[in-house]
Formats: sequence, structure tokens, C-alpha cells
Amino acid sequence: MQVECFTVGAFRVNTYLVTDVQTGLSAIIDTGESVELIEQLQLRQPQPHISMILLTHGHLDHAGALPLLQQHYPVPTYLPRLEQPMFATLPKQGDWFGEPAFNRHCGQIDHYLDDGDTIMLGKTQLRFISTPGHTPGQGCYYDDQDIFVGDTLFAGSIGRYDLPMGDAELTQQSLTKLLRLPGHLRVHSGHGPVTTLAQELKSNPYLQFLR
Ligand SMILES: [Zn+2]
Repeated sequence: MQVECFTVGAFRVNTYLVTDVQTGLSAIIDTGESVELIEQLQLRQPQPHISMILLTHGHLDHAGALPLLQQHYPVPTYLPRLEQPMFATLPKQGDWFGEPAFNRHCGQIDHYLDDGDTIMLGKTQLRFISTPGHTPGQGCYYDDQDIFVGDTLFAGSIGRYDLPMGDAELTQQSLTKLLRLPGHLRVHSGHGPVTTLAQELKSNPYLQFLR
């Protein structure tokens, strides 16, 4: 699977274009909150053959541009099932931090994902693992080499659990579960650089409870 990262929008969120090399079919993982991802994708040559949109969670920096993207790419969109309550708050998430200009409409969700579900992107099987805590239903997508973790885990840090609907205990449980996956997996986070599960297990100060 080929992985390209586009860091976009006011929150400098990492969004991803992942492509199954055998078939050329691509998925977008997370959207940003602005038109910037669309603009960057339209500059890309050759134009990607986008066949699905996958969301890690429902925060506005990850899912706020969904309706804009769907105008350009009317493709099936996937959301973790447990994330529905957070996703539904997109029209008022800007208000949470005094910025109503960031309130967004909810896009269209076609499929809801449960822990252990799989999705075929061309010949690549993507697996879904539910990792709630940062939000009620955040989840990660992975194949044999790469994992897309949203705001579950960062290089040297973890996602906040003190925001509305966040949960510290669930965060700890989810990180325990996530770090049981193969250590060689390259971790593509919602913010910041690429790392691996093994590297984070070794040196991330927030994962000391696992060592
Ligand atoms: Zn988030």
C-alpha cells in the first residue's frame, strides 16, 4: 500500500491518501476542516482514483470537511459506529472553543464500523480496531505494514482525554490493546511525524504503564 500524507487546515491535521498498488484504488483517511485537502488532491498528478473515505473520529479537524469532499468524491464513507454521538456534534464543535466559524455540517455516512471489521481497498485488506478514549468511538485502520491511528497515539505523546466525551480509563485500555499489534507497524498519526508501535512502546513517556 502506498501512503501519502497531506497536512492541512487551521489545525495542521495529517490526512492520508492510501493506494492499493495492484489496482490503483485509493482511500482518503480523514478530511481536515477546510477545502485544502481537495485543493491538494486536485494538484496531484495523475489524479487519484478515490473509492472510499475513512474517518478515524468525529472531531472537526478530522471530519469537518467531509461534506466538501463528498461534493468532489461521492464515494462510500465509513465511520466507527461508536463515534456517532461525537460526529453529530460537528455543527457545534466550533462553539466549544469560542470559534463558531469552525462549526461544520455533518457529511453522509454510508457504513458504520465495529471492532474487527475489515474493508477491501482493491486487493488490500484494511482492518478496523476500535480504540475509544480520546472520543467515544475513535478507531484505527491498518494492514500488514501501516496503521492510521487518528489522535489515539502520537510520536512521544497520546491523544487528549479531557475534551468533551473523552475518557481516561478507556484511553488506557485502548492503548493497551493497540500496542499488542505487531511492533513493526508504521504509525501514521493525526498530528506530527511517522513512528512505529515498537518505538513508542520503548520511549513514549505516556506508555510507561505498559513497560
Ligand atoms: Zn481529535
